[in-house]
Amino acid sequence: MASNPVEEQPWSWTRLRAFLECPKLFEHQYIQNMELVKRPRAFLVGSAIHRFLEVWYATWDESQALKSVRGVFDNIDTSSFSKEEMDQYHNDYAMVLGICPAYAKVYLPDKDNFSSILTEQKFKFSFGKHSFLGYVDLLVKDKEGKWWIMETKTRSMSTNISNEFRSSYINGQLLSQAYGARQSLKIPVQGVIFNIIKKPGIRLRKGETREAYRNRVIIEYTQHYQAKGYFQRFEMMLDKRHVENFLKSTKATLMVARKFYKDGFFPLNSQACDGKYGQCAFLSACLSGKYSSLLYRRKQ
Ligand code: SF4
Repeated sequence: MASNPVEEQPWSWTRLRAFLECPKLFEHQYIQNMELVKRPRAFLVGSAIHRFLEVWYATWDESQALKSVRGVFDNIDTSSFSKEEMDQYHNDYAMVLGICPAYAKVYLPDKDNFSSILTEQKFKFSFGKHSFLGYVDLLVKDKEGKWWIMETKTRSMSTNISNEFRSSYINGQLLSQAYGARQSLKIPVQGVIFNIIKKPGIRLRKGETREAYRNRVIIEYTQHYQAKGYFQRFEMMLDKRHVENFLKSTKATLMVARKFYKDGFFPLNSQACDGKYGQCAFLSACLSGKYSSLLYRRKQ
């Protein structure tokens, strides 16, 4: 671990978001360097779909992209899963294997609609003494020569897309990506294409094989994606003022982070303990003041 992780390690949107959400959370994750023993399964479907898209857009090879999905699932340590969690894990895999080929079929015209597609682009820029690192998963250039960040979001059927994405106008992750693409990759990003993929309402039926379920998902997504809104896209132009605000507010945030680190005190934000995606994973550590080895381990 670096002697001063606040100043000597590069910042990223993930680190910054943790600090903004709760300074104590940042301390758990990046000063004490702790992580969960059991990775929450909730993010698995989204991660696997992201991986599929990265490989598919880089190669246009569906079978290679599906193999990479297997890799995401294989990387999960399932040794402590209950039977129910294990069943859900296999069901999620079948669901992803159904959604991805349907996506490839519906969005095959992307091959012609974009004149250039770049995947997994790393960027880096400086903030005074700090550096900021990140990746843009997908950058696309339209036929008019405009560059867009293609931001894929996996959401449940019940998500109200228009409400959720209103705040995206000032989303620090996208603003940092746009600035990073311009500074580091010399790509003038105009805006963001939100690529929304909704998870199916349909579940594995009693007695149904996972292969049959997968096929049912493929049919559901290829035939009803418009009516049911499984695949949706909308564009949003990026406002230069918001990028400038992001830079200014991040500079101020990093000054505060340096002070907290110098004082050895990262305050708790109890407002964030029950978040949008459930209870904070570090609640047990905050309540007990200890890291149970059943729940947490030091990052490698
Ligand atoms: S449990 Fe609450 S106070 Fe503790 S790190 Fe999480 S959000 Fe912060």
